[in-house]
Amino acid sequence: MPDLVSLQKMTARFAPVEISAGTSHLPDAEQQALTRMLEAGLIMDTLYLRQVWAGNEALLEQLQRDTSPLGTARLHYFRINKGPWSRLDHNAPFIPGVPEKPLAANFYPQGATKGELEAWLNTLSGKERESAVGFFTVIRGAAGGARGFVMIPYSAEYDQELARAAALLREAASLTAQPTLKAYLTSRADAFLSNDYYASDIAWMELDASIEPTIGPYEVYEDEWFNAKAAFEAFVTIRDDAETAKLVKLSGQLQDIEDHLPIDAKYRNPRLGSLAPIRVVNEILAAGDGNRGVQTAAFNLPNDERVVKEKGSKRVMLKNVQEAKFRIVLVPISQIVLSPSDRKNVSFDAFFTHILMHELMHGLGPHEIRVADRTTTVRQELRETYSTIEEAKADISGLFALQYLIDKGVIDKSLERSIYDTFLASAFRSIRFGINEAHGRGIAIQLNYLMDTGAFRITPEGTFAVVPAKIKDGVIALTREIMTLEAEGDYVRAREMQKDLGVVRPEIQAALDRLQDIPVDIEPQFPAVQRLISDTKNRH
Ligand code: ZN
Repeated sequence: MPDLVSLQKMTARFAPVEISAGTSHLPDAEQQALTRMLEAGLIMDTLYLRQVWAGNEALLEQLQRDTSPLGTARLHYFRINKGPWSRLDHNAPFIPGVPEKPLAANFYPQGATKGELEAWLNTLSGKERESAVGFFTVIRGAAGGARGFVMIPYSAEYDQELARAAALLREAASLTAQPTLKAYLTSRADAFLSNDYYASDIAWMELDASIEPTIGPYEVYEDEWFNAKAAFEAFVTIRDDAETAKLVKLSGQLQDIEDHLPIDAKYRNPRLGSLAPIRVVNEILAAGDGNRGVQTAAFNLPNDERVVKEKGSKRVMLKNVQEAKFRIVLVPISQIVLSPSDRKNVSFDAFFTHILMHELMHGLGPHEIRVADRTTTVRQELRETYSTIEEAKADISGLFALQYLIDKGVIDKSLERSIYDTFLASAFRSIRFGINEAHGRGIAIQLNYLMDTGAFRITPEGTFAVVPAKIKDGVIALTREIMTLEAEGDYVRAREMQKDLGVVRPEIQAALDRLQDIPVDIEPQFPAVQRLISDTKNRH
C-alpha cells in the first residue's frame, strides 16, 4: 500500500483548481432554482459512491474519522477517485483491506459470477429481459441459484435519495421562468420516481436556457461486466453566450468549408445535412460519475438509442474545465516542449476554437461512400482503424478550416500563429495520455506526418517548433490524404498509416520524459457548492 509520501505524490497529479462561472446575470428566481439543482446534484455523489462498491459509504465514514496525516491523505485521494482504487493506476487499491475493484460494481448480486448472470438473463424474455439488461435496474439476490435473482428498478433501489432529488428538481422547476428548463426538471423528477427516463431525455435535447443541467443516471462505463447499467452523475452548468455566438458563426461557414476541402471535387458533399447540436457551457458542479479521476471536458448524450433515433444526440462542451486544463497542464507542457519563440503564441482562444472546429469537422468530409459499386460507410470500411483515422481527420481538417476562415476574414488573423503552436503543444498533452486509444494515436499520426514533411521541426535543444513556411502545405496535404483514404474506404492504407505513424518515436518520448512533474489533470473545487454548504449550515 502507498505510504503517506507516495500517496501525496499520486494526489499531486491532480492540481486543485476553482471551477466557477458568473451567475450574477441571472434573475433571483433563476439563482434560487440553480441552488436546488446543486443540492440535487450532490445527491448523485452519494448514489454513485454506492453504485461503485457496496462498501464505499462505510469506508468513507471510517476515513472521515481518521484525522492522522495518512488518514487525511487517504480521504483526499478517495474523494478524487470515488473509491479506494486509483483510477490513473489501473485501479490499484491504495487503502489496506479493500478487495480488488469489482468489475460488476454494485449493479449485480455480490458473489455471483458473470456466467450465472448470463444464464439467468437467458431465461428471461420480452419486457422482462429488456429491463434486466437495461440502464435503470440493479440485479439482486443470492448467488448460486439462478432463480434467486431479481431485478430492482433504480426508483426502488435508491428510493429515498431519488425522492429527495425529485422534490428539489420540482422546486427548481417551480422557480424558473424558462419553459424548456421547467420541462426538463419536471420530467426528470417524474423519471426518478417512475423509472421511465424517455420523456426527460427528450426534454434534455430540447433545453434552451441560461442554465443547462444534466442530472441522473447516464454513463455505463462503471459496469465493466456488460456496460449496461447507468451510473448517477450531475453537471450543473451555465450557458456561455459569447462562445455560443461564435459557434453559430462557425456553423454558418460549414458548407463553404466543405466546398473548398482539399480533396477531389467528387468526394465533397454538395448538401451537408443538419448538424448535431453543440452547447458551450461553464460548469459550476460536477458530481458522481461526472467527477472522478480525470475530469470530463465534453460529453455526448443521451445514450438511449430510442431518443438518439428520434432527436439525435447533443454535445456539451465544458469551457471552463477546458480552460483549467489548458492553464494547469497545457501551458506548463508548452514551456518545456516548445521552442522559446513558439511558447509565447500558445493561447486558450486558439485551443478552444480548434476544439470547436474539431467537433464541427466530424460532420464534414466523406461518410456514406461507394466502394466497388457498393454503398457503404467510412466506419464500416475502415473497421478497427476508423476511430483513430476519424479523430485525426477532425483535428487536421480543423486546422485547415481555421486557416481557411482566417484567409477569408471570418476569423481574426491574430489567431494564425497561435493555432499551430497551440496544436503542437496540445499534441504532447494528448500523447501523454497514451496512444492506446483513438485520440492519442490519431495525434501521433499527425505529429509524425508534420515532422516528416518539415512542417514541425526539432531544435538543437530538443524542443519543437512550427515551420511557418511549411505548416499550411503540411496541413493541406494530410487533410487530403486522410479524407481521400476515407472517401475510398481504403482499409489497407489506413492500417499502414496507423502502423507507420501512430507511434511514439524516440525524440517524442525524450520530450515526454521531461513532463513527469506536470499535473496530469485537475481536481475541481466548486465555490458555488461551498457557498451552498455554508449557507445551509448557517440556517441550522
Ligand atoms: Zn473527435
